[in-house]
Amino acid sequence: MFDGRHNCIVVVGAQWGDEGKGKLVDVLAEQADMVVRYQGGANAGHTVVVGDRQFVLHQIPSGILHGGARCVVGNGVVLDPETFFAELAELATQGIEISGRLFVSDRAHVVLPYHKLLDQASEKQQQIGTTGRGIGPAYEDKIGRRGVRVTDLCRGTGAREFLEPRVERANAMLKLLGSPQAASLDEHVELFGRLGDKLRPLATDTGLLVHQALKSSQRVLMEGAQGALLDVDHGTYPFVTSSNTTAGGAAVGAGVGPTAINGVLGVVKAYTTRVGNGPLPTEAQGDLQKQLRDLGGEFGATTGRPRRCGWFDATVVRYSARVNGLTGLAVTKLDVLDTFAEIPVCTGYRLDGRECAEFPSDIEALDRVEPIYEVMAGWQKGTGSATKLSDLAPAARKYLDRLEELSGEPIKYVSVGTRRDQIIEV
Ligand code: GDP
Repeated sequence: MFDGRHNCIVVVGAQWGDEGKGKLVDVLAEQADMVVRYQGGANAGHTVVVGDRQFVLHQIPSGILHGGARCVVGNGVVLDPETFFAELAELATQGIEISGRLFVSDRAHVVLPYHKLLDQASEKQQQIGTTGRGIGPAYEDKIGRRGVRVTDLCRGTGAREFLEPRVERANAMLKLLGSPQAASLDEHVELFGRLGDKLRPLATDTGLLVHQALKSSQRVLMEGAQGALLDVDHGTYPFVTSSNTTAGGAAVGAGVGPTAINGVLGVVKAYTTRVGNGPLPTEAQGDLQKQLRDLGGEFGATTGRPRRCGWFDATVVRYSARVNGLTGLAVTKLDVLDTFAEIPVCTGYRLDGRECAEFPSDIEALDRVEPIYEVMAGWQKGTGSATKLSDLAPAARKYLDRLEELSGEPIKYVSVGTRRDQIIEV
């Protein structure tokens, strides 16, 4: 993807998240000078396998696993400082050196313990299927102009006065939501004292860092979390996350203009999964769903929750290509389908008896759509050792060709296993 004309690439999930973005970012980060996270928080979990070691990164860009890349947590992220430092400590025990390589936007908002209490209390009422990590309430506070930013945490003075009205408001909200829990002002003041000093050396105007990197023709990779169908504007609202996961969010969340971005790689599984509640038109039934889940190891990296599994949905990917402005696709987990004799692919929807070309905005319509399937022959042969397209069985290549045709985007990568080297560059 990186070449003389393309030096700022966004990697986005083009389905409902967990597509394997971490692996693609890891592969592309090898060529990048800078890797930027631009939205989401500790609810996202990227799993990256390096040799026989597995890293689960929640807030730190996966580029950290490459010695050469500088990593940025952008202003669009909501940072949970407690788990951020736990993640850093874990990386240190694994021998990953971060000093001078990791920067946090001083404009990023912070997730505090009261956000987690609010998240858990409102989840009881709304049942969106959130991870309860305070992400939604932190974004609500950001938009409500009462948020707490990294720069506030790093100020070093006046923490009690700054926090008091916020903790009081959170407690009033908790009462309203019927929660028996209350946030402690002392705990928040202590957290500010303890973590402010640690965060200060990392906090800076990261938009400026990204700008300078691009100006000096460095290669910048922007790493999305979750997927397009969980975007707060474009996803299956209200069963979405609280940020813009799509490529437009990368400009805002990294602090650069949209013209800086010149490539968008959409990561899709060779099938479909989603975690949490909400529509999933191509959800597989019974044993087939269990088979996909077991073969794909489809359990959340953050929560361990079983993911809902189904077949590739071309309506979703076409929509995703449009709202992200994709310039290429990476198809992951092809190997998970190795044993299936037949593989259904959804080519479009029927809604109330009529063909429906576009992805509906109405959640009730999405519950009613009937996927139109085309059944492709499986290849029933291992793909895990393929290093080029011609190593794949003809049926596997036919499957990929069909996904490309239906999605309308060129496939640039095919991933055939968890390891770094199990990737085919097309
Ligand atoms: P992300 O948030 O999009 O990075 O996705 P996750 O990390 O939650 O889930 C992707 C999972 O799939 C991880 O456990 C990866 O190691 C694994 N994975 C990525 N690519 C492949 C692949 O091609 N084949 C298989 N079997 N697993 C893969």
